[in-house]
Amino acid sequence: MRIKTIEGNEFSSTEANSILDSALLAGFIFEYSCKNGLCGVCKTTLIEGKVLELKSQFALTDEEKKNHKILTCCCEPVSDVVIDAEDLTRLKNIDVKTLPVRISEINFPAKNIIEVVLRFPPAASIKFLEGQYLDVLWNNIRRSYSIASTSLDKKVKLLIKKVDQGQMSDYWFDQAQVNDLLRIEGPKGTFFIRDAVKPLVFLATGTGIAPIMSILTKIDQDSEFTQQHAIHLFWGNRYKEDFVWQPMFKNIEVSVEKVISKSDKDWGGETGYVQMIALEKLGAKLVVSDVYACGSNAMIQSSKQVFSDIGLPEKQFYSDAFVQSF
Ligand SMILES: Cc1cc2nc3c(=O)[nH]c(=O)nc-3n(C[C@H](O)[C@H](O)[C@H](O)COP(=O)(O)OP(=O)(O)OC[C@H]3O[C@@H](n4cnc5c(N)ncnc54)[C@H](O)[C@@H]3O)c2cc1C
Repeated sequence: MRIKTIEGNEFSSTEANSILDSALLAGFIFEYSCKNGLCGVCKTTLIEGKVLELKSQFALTDEEKKNHKILTCCCEPVSDVVIDAEDLTRLKNIDVKTLPVRISEINFPAKNIIEVVLRFPPAASIKFLEGQYLDVLWNNIRRSYSIASTSLDKKVKLLIKKVDQGQMSDYWFDQAQVNDLLRIEGPKGTFFIRDAVKPLVFLATGTGIAPIMSILTKIDQDSEFTQQHAIHLFWGNRYKEDFVWQPMFKNIEVSVEKVISKSDKDWGGETGYVQMIALEKLGAKLVVSDVYACGSNAMIQSSKQVFSDIGLPEKQFYSDAFVQSF
């Protein structure tokens, strides 16, 4: 079957593969994140043709299905198809690699958060865009983690929140030791800054701050970046102890709003949900901004809805949901 996009790209599907995987194999990169049908980042419009659902499209509403929306990570074409998906050329020379890595450092910046630094073998490394994630493979388990460090660093830093009874959480929090050998596969995902021609609004919950740390730190260090618009960061956590990064910048100005969701009498900042605080503080300014949201799927789906309700175009909302890995 042939897969065509309305911007004029065309390639063949590969049997039993999703449109997204066929695109990746053919050297095209469409927007995606979890590849499990949960986050909805790869949502697109099927303009012509028929597809077969290989995995459940959890992130689509019935209304969206009726309106010919599909998730490219879940559907295989069963006829020639035309879709409205954009090829992300900035990722063209970024190769996905599988590499052995060793744990170089372990820190516990909060009780339920671990910071893991990974080092590559001599002469090996990965090239990535700030905001992307990688998969860590250990003992037949595969989990995705956003890269918190920048491409200027030699090692890769991850920021991981403990999930109760989580298989990989058990490893990280109870067994992991410096020098342990793991494998990584990456970089992956399309959560990176497209351009900075509009004000930028970042929303994070919990360790969803990891890719945003990477993006903002890189922008701050980039001598070619000239800030022309406001940059806002809204970071939410359940408890004040979970703010494990102090955003401080030398060259850019970022307004930082820390928000906790559980009321605390010793807390001087905002209490509530990040997306609602962003709405309250920025109001109509949100509509002319590019919004980048990362963390819980609940926050992402809610932000997408409330911001779209006030007129934010779908194409100005980028997200990476920390949904469950399979
Ligand atoms: C693109 C992407 C990037 C990610 N980046 C990060 C990151 O930088 N830092 C980070 O801390 N996590 C990140 N995650 C989440 C991470 O991949 C794991 O899913 C999470 O850490 C749980 O893994 P686990 O093996 O400990 O738990 P599992 O063994 O997978 O799950 C244990 C139990 O917890 C539930 N559960 C699993 N995941 C979640 C969840 N996210 N929320 C609520 N309940 C859950 C499961 O249903 C299950 O009942 C990312 C996920 C994706 C898809």
